[in-house]
Amino acid sequence: MFLLAIKEMAKRDYYEVLGVDKKATDEEIKKAYRKIAIKYHPDRNPGDKEAEEKFKEAAEAYDVLHDPKKRQQYDQFGFDAPGGFGGFGSGQGFSVDDIFSQFGDIFSDFFGGGFSGGSGFGGYRSSAGNRARYRGSDLRLKVKLSLQDIETGVTKKFKVRKDIACPHCHGSGAEGGSKSDTCPTCHGSGVTVKTVRTMLGMMQTQTECPTCHGEGTVIKNKCSACSGTGITKGEEVVEINIPAGVADGMIVTVPGKGNAGQHNGVNGDIQVYIEEEENDTFIRDGQDVIYNLLLDFPTATLGGTVDIPTISGGKVKIKIEPGTQPGKTLRLRQKGLPAVKGYGSSVGDLVVNISVYVPKTLSRDEKEMIEKMRNSNNFKGDNATKRSIFSKFKSYFN
Ligand SMILES: [Zn+2]
Ligand SMILES: [Zn+2]
Repeated sequence: MFLLAIKEMAKRDYYEVLGVDKKATDEEIKKAYRKIAIKYHPDRNPGDKEAEEKFKEAAEAYDVLHDPKKRQQYDQFGFDAPGGFGGFGSGQGFSVDDIFSQFGDIFSDFFGGGFSGGSGFGGYRSSAGNRARYRGSDLRLKVKLSLQDIETGVTKKFKVRKDIACPHCHGSGAEGGSKSDTCPTCHGSGVTVKTVRTMLGMMQTQTECPTCHGEGTVIKNKCSACSGTGITKGEEVVEINIPAGVADGMIVTVPGKGNAGQHNGVNGDIQVYIEEEENDTFIRDGQDVIYNLLLDFPTATLGGTVDIPTISGGKVKIKIEPGTQPGKTLRLRQKGLPAVKGYGSSVGDLVVNISVYVPKTLSRDEKEMIEKMRNSNNFKGDNATKRSIFSKFKSYFN
């Protein structure tokens, strides 16, 4: 995979991009940039090319305007300032990874530092300065969780086999610490640039340098252990924190714990696929859990107290009113599952669905007892109950 960036020469004014005045203070510029960057952040707009462009545009503007020297040059000469603007290094476009490596700190207090470095963006490699950075691939793991794990959140340990930095060359790919030479083809920029005139104006086409594959340097003596890649297979025990409230099919990303990138590049991520274990007591319904209570006939008739199991393995007592009908539901508030952190603070309910057990075998005495009740009108069901059961039944079909 190689990097191909086509950039139009016509650009929006940097102040306009950030929506600030030409006299804006450093603090105002920083604030404005943060607002835009958070809005168009790739993690929030996955797959949205326009958002990505806006994100990059803002980063470029910020890169110039927050640097007093660059800003002064820009104010004086505009885009034609000596040396030019528009990216890190020699006129290269910004990549999302660059933005993270340069301005990552601006987001850290917003996102809790758990940045993935733009995972899933721009392939495996991007330019930072003149040195290309390889990105290791992501690893996928599957984890089976009980409802109890999901209620509390859980830390799981995995032994993963993955690419690690080669211990022989410390990831550099060069034998015995031998130095690298500047790439003779691209003179260190990592790209070859072509400018072509088109109907739309001048277009710049950048292609990854074929000699150094974007790195800007070439290794003199390749490491004998990893053949110059800087990576080798290894094992690592990884601790993964699964937050409470997750559901079957969700993916939890653990940034930077995936395969190591070549030549001391950026680590990939671990994608943890959540699988929910079958539970034989509860049925999950979003954040609620449903428990089917099979009441004995006397308690349904006379009322009483029964124990209901909870997700955590405990019990809660609930009161059964005399004359409780099968199909009745009771809600134990906030005895269900929590929302995943960051997606609300609500806790679901434990929904008790009541059925009534009708005995299948009876002793002679019991039979006689029930036989006596057969002709009592109280056992035949009143009209109000019949109507309510009918409407409940009907609602299943609507
Ligand atoms: Zn090596
Ligand atoms: Zn090169």
